Amino acid sequence: MAVSKGQSPDKIREASASGLTRFGESYIQEALAKIDSLADLDIEWHFIGPIQSNKTKPIAEHFAWAHSIDREKIAKRLNDQRPEHLPPLNVCIQVNPTGEVSKAGISLDQVPSMATFIDSQPKLKLKGLMSIPPKSDQFDQQQNIFNLVQLAQINLSDIGFDVDTLSMGMSNDMEAAVSQGATILRIGTGIFGPREIITSSH
Ligand SMILES: *Cc1c(COP(=O)(O)O)cnc(C)c1O
Repeated sequence: MAVSKGQSPDKIREASASGLTRFGESYIQEALAKIDSLADLDIEWHFIGPIQSNKTKPIAEHFAWAHSIDREKIAKRLNDQRPEHLPPLNVCIQVNPTGEVSKAGISLDQVPSMATFIDSQPKLKLKGLMSIPPKSDQFDQQQNIFNLVQLAQINLSDIGFDVDTLSMGMSNDMEAAVSQGATILRIGTGIFGPREIITSSH
């Protein structure tokens, strides 16, 4: 997936013309302006940023996926606000495998109960797990953390959840993520170069 936060609509248009179809955005106001101005293109929009409860409605209305679910309250609001005429919103549970403080995501042992809750919501489709590990330039370290996420995903499958997505790996750790089974890499600067738009409001 091309992470287009901080990139202009023209750059997204160019990326779309060269064949990319999935784009990820982190800030709702910035995203809505782009979704509107690029409505003529065939793009699948993914929300990957932190989700505050007062921002769930536009996410439920304008996105195909939300990768950053880490609270039942947010999942419930997205379900309730998903328009009837749209298919269920595809969602990933964001996990924090190392328990880093100040980072979003639930601990790995909470994953099955969150998955059970999401499965009970008719307008949500649980796809799998998402993670943003601590920054590290060491391949082994990156790999070890992605491996924990992969094991949690395998456990979900083993206990009966129909999941097929591991959203992990960014520009600086994509090789380690691929080695541990990533199915969606979220690549921003590696595709577009440095970000141009600085969004201060989430
Ligand atoms: C910005 C962002 C990315 C992309 O990061 P790059 O280093 O530019 O590839 C991926 N995932 C999330 C959640 C992001 O916020």
